[in-house]
Amino acid sequence: MAGSSRVTAFTGAGISTESGIPDFRSPSGVWTRYDPRDFTFDRYVDSAEVRASSWAMRREFFALAVEPNAAHRALARIEESGRGGAVVTQNIDGLHQAAGSTHVVEIHGTARTVMCIGHAPRRGAPAGCGFTAPYTWAFAQVDAGVADPPCPECGGLVKSATVSFGQLLFPGVVEEALALAAGSDRVVAVGSSLQVYPAADVPVAAVRHGARLAIVNDEPTPLDRIADVVVRGRAGDVLPAAVEAALTA
Ligand SMILES: [Zn+2]
Repeated sequence: MAGSSRVTAFTGAGISTESGIPDFRSPSGVWTRYDPRDFTFDRYVDSAEVRASSWAMRREFFALAVEPNAAHRALARIEESGRGGAVVTQNIDGLHQAAGSTHVVEIHGTARTVMCIGHAPRRGAPAGCGFTAPYTWAFAQVDAGVADPPCPECGGLVKSATVSFGQLLFPGVVEEALALAAGSDRVVAVGSSLQVYPAADVPVAAVRHGARLAIVNDEPTPLDRIADVVVRGRAGDVLPAAVEAALTA
């Protein structure tokens, strides 16, 4: 990173588990108490019960009161230093922004916002009126006794602005991430198994355009063989020192 002004970070669940956010795939994760099959886009559209259960799950998520960790802050420092530092993330928790990153592309959306998805959207495609609000808006509705709060503007369904199972990615987001990748000369992939596509296309696209790739993860990934540097470890242990060394080199 030391000689670069076009560093891009790509992050996955691993960077957030270090802040105490349960990995949805871990045995002790939130999915042991909520059935993942209930959280498909179609089930959400079809069932008021699923929507109410979904708000309860979101509330549990935000009750964790998690904070960004040293790895999030290290990535924000890259941006502050003027070396690029855009972040493409698979996470929905907003911790990069909380750490100070301003250029964040959220491939799977964000849990910090809710949005109207329309009255009966089909084929995994939200079809709302454009209403959005902070997640606290929905929690206030639920507290006031509205278990399944409707859109205040059109009466449609409201859902967190995340990409659920069976839901199409938001238009333009992957394109934006791939354009960032193509314009980078260094990519550091952090805390991602690099197995979920199209998200994992981002580091691949960067390498194809000539970028050097570093991977920081606590287990092997399928992209290790195309990486220039692989560091096996926790992001919060590895990144602060690595970024500090790069910025003072
Ligand atoms: Zn609406």
